[in-house]
Amino acid sequence: MKQTTYGEIEVCDAHVHFFSHHFFEKLAGLAPSTRGTPDPVEAACQVTGFDPPGTDPAFLADRWLAELDLAGVSRAMLIASVPGDEASVAAAVWRHPDRFVGAFMVDPTHDDTEARVRRAFDELGLGVACLFPSMHHFSIAESDGVRAVAALAAERPGRAVFTHFGALSVGIRSKLGLPSPFDMRRSNPFDLHPVAGEFASTTFIVPHFGAGMFRETLMVAELCPNVMIDTSSSNRWMRYVSPPADLASVFRQTIAVAGASRLLFGSDSSFFPRGWNGTVFDAQIEALADAGASADDARAVLGGNFGRLFGEQES
Ligand SMILES: [Zn+2]
Repeated sequence: MKQTTYGEIEVCDAHVHFFSHHFFEKLAGLAPSTRGTPDPVEAACQVTGFDPPGTDPAFLADRWLAELDLAGVSRAMLIASVPGDEASVAAAVWRHPDRFVGAFMVDPTHDDTEARVRRAFDELGLGVACLFPSMHHFSIAESDGVRAVAALAAERPGRAVFTHFGALSVGIRSKLGLPSPFDMRRSNPFDLHPVAGEFASTTFIVPHFGAGMFRETLMVAELCPNVMIDTSSSNRWMRYVSPPADLASVFRQTIAVAGASRLLFGSDSSFFPRGWNGTVFDAQIEALADAGASADDARAVLGGNFGRLFGEQES
């Protein structure tokens, strides 16, 4: 439990990146500054200033657990943040199943998408398939792979599909000097509308209030009750809105359109030594209070909805 302006609240974080050894290895193997060095992961950590994750994902899982304990955070969704890294986050979930929900990035343009996601859900016990259409150059509306993923999630309780829209920047790629050949034409939440309509029993999660596509996100959320919105990150996209939005009005408007039951608190924490990003939490709880959110609404956003979606904690 975490002490807040709303009193003691159970906080669950629906957006934490799990920067595993495999994750570093993949990016470091691509970056000109680190590839071909004797230890590319070590070199990448030096370039970025991030702590080495350790080769055993259990080490990183324990570090995150200690971090959540320190912050008073009950549970977190850990995201394997390159395709093919399901095993790392699965190891973390197996180690602390009552504290972590596993999520994994998948590129649905690959032929093995259905088999990979089925295995992640059924054998590895992961909860959320994460799609990045602008990164992997596909349309959420038109991809057969996306439909396969949505169908698999529909058949299984406690599973969801995360769909990233709007602005996408990956800090570690920039730090490593890796280009980011993304395509923002794939980033419109309207692409989710036909899929969320067809797979009405699948829960879809749109992060960062749509990351600049706020209006479109609200429109789709109003039409599709199976669309949830995560609040994560510092929401720098608010600078794109004219006049610039403030977080309190973003919360107020989202709760008015979609209801508090469809918001998932997220911090977008990712690396050590920073660890869990309490600054984001502090800003969000202040914004909730400024927005006039009730204590029940705050409890739902900060942890209750997470428990409803993924199942309550067993311990
Ligand atoms: Zn993120």
